[in-house]
Amino acid sequence: MNLVLLGAPGSGKGTQAELISKKYGWPHISTGEIFRNIKAGKSSLAEAVKGYIDRGQLVPDSITVDIVEQRISESDCERGFLLDGFPRSIYQAEILGVSLGRRGMGIDCVLYLALSDEAIIRRLEARRVCPGCGRDYNLVTQPPKENGKCDACGTQVARRVDDNIKIIRERLDVYRKETQPLVDYYIKKKVLSEIDASKTIEEVSVSVKEFIDLKCDVHRT
Ligand code: AMP
Repeated sequence: MNLVLLGAPGSGKGTQAELISKKYGWPHISTGEIFRNIKAGKSSLAEAVKGYIDRGQLVPDSITVDIVEQRISESDCERGFLLDGFPRSIYQAEILGVSLGRRGMGIDCVLYLALSDEAIIRRLEARRVCPGCGRDYNLVTQPPKENGKCDACGTQVARRVDDNIKIIRERLDVYRKETQPLVDYYIKKKVLSEIDASKTIEEVSVSVKEFIDLKCDVHRT
């Protein structure tokens, strides 16, 4: 099954994607993660990507679309995949639809994690990430167990460069303008399920699983 996780920054897409990927075995494709890896390198592309991420702007489609098309054509995606952070605009969704359509596929399920702006800002300001293994923390609801060190690998957790209030506001503006219209777009295609993302990780995960199992049943019949 081909799945998209849709929602504002901080709505919990990455956390839920990890859980889904572990449970169902579909590869988790996070464009944010791909771009942070590119940014960590030394190339003119790395410099360009760094500029967009650090300003809270979208990386241009001319770069993004090719990367995603290449990734979803790899063999581990044949049984299905999980997109987190893509598509982020109607244009990206259209391109994705055409690309999958050429292979007789489509997007089967879009899980929309709905959350208010106030909750998003609160979460992003408290978010910390492990630079070693990428695990997410929240200083209020899910802090590392020992002195700010990652529970999994012991690296000191840190704030993401783009998780400061000025850039958070910019990312939210971009989200409302470019990405939010995808909610109606996928409602019209009858593939969208809305989930209340203000609940705990475990509660959201139960709803996510229910929707996926329902879709999987429909998909099989
Ligand atoms: P995320 O981790 O999903 O919040 O993404 C971090 C940053 O990566 C975004 O603010 C963008 O600069 C870039 N990015 C991630 N996904 C996309 C996308 N689909 N299109 C353009 N830029 C993206």
